[in-house]
Amino acid sequence: MTRKPLIAGNWKMHNTTAEARELVVGVMQGVKEFEKSELPDIVVAPVFTSIPAVSEEIFEKCGCGKVALAAQNCYFEPKGAFTGEISIDMIKEFKAEYIIIGHSERRQYFGETDEMINSKAKAILAAGIIPIICCGETLEQREAGVTDAHIASQIVKALEGITPADVAKSVIAYEPIWAIGTGKTCDSVEANRVIAEIRKVVAQVAGRENADKIRILYGGSVKPSTIKEQMAQSDIDGALVGGASLKADDFVEIIKGAM
Ligand code: PEP
Repeated sequence: MTRKPLIAGNWKMHNTTAEARELVVGVMQGVKEFEKSELPDIVVAPVFTSIPAVSEEIFEKCGCGKVALAAQNCYFEPKGAFTGEISIDMIKEFKAEYIIIGHSERRQYFGETDEMINSKAKAILAAGIIPIICCGETLEQREAGVTDAHIASQIVKALEGITPADVAKSVIAYEPIWAIGTGKTCDSVEANRVIAEIRKVVAQVAGRENADKIRILYGGSVKPSTIKEQMAQSDIDGALVGGASLKADDFVEIIKGAM
């Protein structure tokens, strides 16, 4: 089974609109020399306020189609009295193809539950967008030996009620919380082991064939120097990159490392 690699940059709460334009243009220039077919799928996730500008750079000014747009979050209701929230259709208006959900920072600081993440995943898939569903354990959970059970629970709850075909289209990002933004990358063999466990859980809920299709990324201090070893693992299909996606040169090096 060959799964197309995917490299996604989560820009978190960084960059003004002008900076976001500059960054996406830098990434597009960095990959210009390559054919789309040789490249991994490339995704950038700016803050909501920069989505229109980044969309314009990708689809109107460049028109290269080599970089896809993602949002970092969404709300699952289509509209209504939900002050401060953004609906999936509002994101789709700017041709976003992916939405990140369940990032540990949203779970930790904004109280997102597995049930909310499941509602978001269903609504995103119903809108024809691909959810990038994040999961991962804390250092305490790892040290207590409950990593696999915790992640299995997160995945089963996130995928509840989703058709097997939609599960296959989704993306999962395994992001050990202790590796996010700390510079401490998870050992590649261990990350691969956990990701293979996630694939087994997906097989239980959606069948082996769909588990072989779903792309599962690793995230947590991915750098240009780590990506080759990570991509050499059997079950790691790409990376969700935070800090290193904020510099076009570093992100382009990571993209090249996945080719
Ligand atoms: C992330 O935010 O999803 C992430 C993995 O961040 P970093 O690459 O900075 O660890």
